[in-house]
Amino acid sequence: MEIAIIAHDGKKADMVQFLNKNKAILLSENIKLIATGTTGTKAESAGFKVKKMLSGPQGGDAQIAGRVAEGKTKMVLFFKDPMSSHPHEPDINMLIRICDVHNVPLATNEATAQLLLNALLLE
Ligand code: PGA
Repeated sequence: MEIAIIAHDGKKADMVQFLNKNKAILLSENIKLIATGTTGTKAESAGFKVKKMLSGPQGGDAQIAGRVAEGKTKMVLFFKDPMSSHPHEPDINMLIRICDVHNVPLATNEATAQLLLNALLLE
């Protein structure tokens, strides 16, 4: 199962902490992680194998949206920073819309991301 992880700058440390907390499930063989560029680099530094897209502002969110639309990415864990604005806001909104179009689970904060991962354990 391909899971996308994205974290805005103000949330990258939280994302790394979240990844480490969920290591057992995220390192399991049937999970493949993809990420926007900088988030992916941070995840790699924490010991995760990640397929990296472009950085978010360079089109990484749009690339992930494309993979959602193609049926490749099955879940998106997006740690959005609601306290800052982003030049690629249109891409972010597009990703959210594409997840809704294709009924793909999308978390936009850590609490929801945790619930989604917990749900995988019940499968
Ligand atoms: P980044 O992109 O992981 O390359 O920083 C995240 C984003 O802002 O969408």
